[in-house]
Amino acid sequence: MTSLGRLADGVVDLFLPKRCVCCGRAGRWLCETCAPALAPLPDTVCGRCGAPLARPRPDCRECRGRDLAFASARAAYVYDGPARRLVTTCKFRALRSLAGEMAGLARLPFEQTVADLGGVDLVTCVPVHPDRDLERGFDQAALLARRLAELAGLPFASLLVRTRRGRRQSGLGAAERAANVRAAFRLDDRMADKAGRVSTVLVVDDVYTTGETLHACSSVLRHAGCEPHAFTFARAARAFRCPTAADGRE
Ligand SMILES: [Zn+2]
Ligand SMILES: [Zn+2]
Repeated sequence: MTSLGRLADGVVDLFLPKRCVCCGRAGRWLCETCAPALAPLPDTVCGRCGAPLARPRPDCRECRGRDLAFASARAAYVYDGPARRLVTTCKFRALRSLAGEMAGLARLPFEQTVADLGGVDLVTCVPVHPDRDLERGFDQAALLARRLAELAGLPFASLLVRTRRGRRQSGLGAAERAANVRAAFRLDDRMADKAGRVSTVLVVDDVYTTGETLHACSSVLRHAGCEPHAFTFARAARAFRCPTAADGRE
């Protein structure tokens, strides 16, 4: 996007009244009343795929036997309630200021992930196809990654490009998703040198559903000699139910 286009986009965003994605109250994208419903991932998660576990265990039902190119995957929030509303609003309405607010909400878990990894050399993102970038006006994963890197004082570079346009992932089954993302990414030619010089790379995306997209991106980075890890704003947590007020009364 040209700097003029970026500026125009920012101006439109500025005049758009912010409304809570959950209750519609004016002021912020997630109001103070709805924010506490954001559910952080529990402390006990699979060391490999980041799935919430009821108790620490060596085998994880979600990633057992699966080929995953990333060394670990962490997320800020369970993909449910407000987190789901933020991700889908950002994806389909392309709001720059919303991606910025999401970065603010994910900042602490992001910094904790970086600390747990003993630091990372570079932050990158899952790229959208250039056509889609154009049609939506911006790329929320890149914006989220760039802002998180900025907040944590880490370098950001867009290392990957899409080789072909994949169908939208939403609404596809697991096998279809895998086929959709296979061979969909490659290293940006201009970034080959940079990728060769870094070791630990944190790949940022808005949501982890089956992990296939992050696996495909990580395969490319691993092939380039990096050790990829994944971080997402939200994560699908099939076997995990968010604690509710009713649990305390049982
Ligand atoms: Zn609200
Ligand atoms: Zn796992």
